[in-house]
Amino acid sequence: MKFVLSAVAALIAVAAPALSAPPKVCADCVKANMEHLAGDELRGRACGTADENAAARFIAERLKAYGVEGAAGDGQYLQRVEVHSPTYAAAPVLQVGDVRLVHGAGMLVRQAPETLDAPLVLVAKGEAASGKIALIAGPYDSEAAVAVLASGAVGVIAEAPPNLLAHWEQFAASPPRGTVIVGVEATSPPVEKAMIFVRPEALEALRAAAGAQAVLTATHGAPAVRTTYNALGVIHGKDPDADENAILLSAHYDHLGLRGGKLYRGANDDASGTAAVLEFARLLGAGETPRRTVQFALFGCEEEGGHGAKYYLAHPPTPLANLKANLEFEMIGVPDPADRKRLMLTGWERSNMGPILREQGASIGPDPYPQENFFQRSDNYQLARKGVVAQTISAWPVPPTYHQPTDDLAHIDLPFMVEVIQSLAGPISWLANGDFQPTWNPGMQP
Ligand SMILES: [Zn+2]
Repeated sequence: MKFVLSAVAALIAVAAPALSAPPKVCADCVKANMEHLAGDELRGRACGTADENAAARFIAERLKAYGVEGAAGDGQYLQRVEVHSPTYAAAPVLQVGDVRLVHGAGMLVRQAPETLDAPLVLVAKGEAASGKIALIAGPYDSEAAVAVLASGAVGVIAEAPPNLLAHWEQFAASPPRGTVIVGVEATSPPVEKAMIFVRPEALEALRAAAGAQAVLTATHGAPAVRTTYNALGVIHGKDPDADENAILLSAHYDHLGLRGGKLYRGANDDASGTAAVLEFARLLGAGETPRRTVQFALFGCEEEGGHGAKYYLAHPPTPLANLKANLEFEMIGVPDPADRKRLMLTGWERSNMGPILREQGASIGPDPYPQENFFQRSDNYQLARKGVVAQTISAWPVPPTYHQPTDDLAHIDLPFMVEVIQSLAGPISWLANGDFQPTWNPGMQP
């Protein structure tokens, strides 16, 4: 699940009879896949690294072994995605009077032109700052930041929110905004203005220096060119219109890898979701051919902004109109202490999918953390915006291990994870063998 600073951004179903016995989950298979994905060899599967690429090949091998066909064209399993990310030639520096801040230390530069030279002014919410660099008074507020940039400010400096402070090193090591995915039309405007977050002590120093000229130096280096892959599989259904009535099961297999000398393994985020999709692939591949076509997608580079999923949407292996439902699996390896049995479906109130899956035995319910905007924070959202009824199933999306080096196998509750997959195996088999057409509730399509 990707980290975000803020959210800036019914039909009545005819229920098919439940299958007599849900397929039996293979706990050893789930364990073996988890151990490999979150193990030493793949070193945290960071976006566009050889480790991530090796993870993609592993997933492809598993899909093949489970009898799932490749869906990336010509029977291939891997869909290649090239990403070009901006870099800085050296750590950006901001000088305001006597105050000197360096990217990664007192400040995080999320985007910046190569140079900026303008007065620093302290602005309250709603104030304009045309031609100036605006220092936002008070806690970070994305709306205030957008508004002051719209007023003509050439840059915004804001206090880093707590969740950014908690993941400071990760952000310092992440590429600045402006990554281009080759073959995908850019949706965000080019980076002309600066956006900088500062630590609380740096904010105090800048407040005292407000009114002085601010000079930002952020010399760009050559773009970093990286390759990631989406691992894609398909089981064609036996109904004559099976391909036009497909369901998509998905997860992202990348995580953060090595950052600042620490290894982020992402056992829960999202080796767990990947292992779940692989297990559904194994069960569906081993069983009787389902009536509907089931597509599988394991996306790369989700953590950096959903690059893999964006490419998939621009180059889908089947027309998107054929995808009648998408279930994304994210962080299902650690139970929510508030209710150990419950899974949540993000955007529960948005469609008729959750209630019907619950009717079929899934231990699933509404998202108890709506303020976290989880519906928007996983790859499902990108499909949802294209019209596919796409939602994410998670166990506990806010464990203390989230985006920490402690998100490792030792912190995964494997029996719980197997239970979760088992609880979903029947409903997914039902979905793959029925006529249920999920729909958005009126006015709830994003
Ligand atoms: Zn994540």
